[in-house]
Amino acid sequence: MRLRNITGSREVIAESPYVVPEEKLPSCPGTWKHELFGNDRELFIEIGMGKGKFIYQMAKTHPEINFVGIEKYSSVLLRAIQKMEEEPLPNLKFIRMDAEDICQVFGEQEVDRIYLNFSDPWPKDRHAKRRLPSRQFLARYDGILKKDGIIEFKTDNRDLFDFALEELEPAGWKAEEVTFDLHHDERLMEGNVMTEYEEKFSSIGNPICKYIIYR
Ligand code: SAM
Repeated sequence: MRLRNITGSREVIAESPYVVPEEKLPSCPGTWKHELFGNDRELFIEIGMGKGKFIYQMAKTHPEINFVGIEKYSSVLLRAIQKMEEEPLPNLKFIRMDAEDICQVFGEQEVDRIYLNFSDPWPKDRHAKRRLPSRQFLARYDGILKKDGIIEFKTDNRDLFDFALEELEPAGWKAEEVTFDLHHDERLMEGNVMTEYEEKFSSIGNPICKYIIYR
């Protein structure tokens, strides 16, 4: 996924109208959204969006909702920008940042929904707190998500999914839906938008796990 050596990716990002400029980010959480989208609609975000296939399709299907895609690496974000340049969507913006700083960017209860898709597993125990569904990240999401907001998480990595489920109770979250084989669950598959990794791993027969959680 990390396309590390794309020359000039930082420059492209700095000049792209589809990326929230870095200087806007930490100064005043909560205020740049209105400026950016020019409306008061719901805000759904994807953390670790990769090349943005999922969030682009979601934004296209739901023009009545604002979407923000977050990605740590410039070289990966560049691919999402290229897609927007081909067919821009007014309700989709990108941020290049490490999600560790998410509470400095979004205001309290500003976000209506969070998507985590095929998050990096960080298999070593000592790196558990870097996993996006870890209790440390759940505490950050608690700060920015509306009280009745939900988080949706999909992965084919069973160890990561089991870990994510174990994190819920200590972090104060509850599962509304859990499946270990999403693609054979007709009800939960309704309206499912496949991510890039979901396409790749389901095509080789890996079952896809999903939860939807709330506090
Ligand atoms: N969500 C996409 C999908 O399902 O196809 C991409 C999955 S890829 C395995 C995980 C992505 O999350 C990578 O692009 C990685 O750079 C990004 N990522 C991992 N940790 C992150 C963090 N702390 N903040 C922002 N992005 C992160």
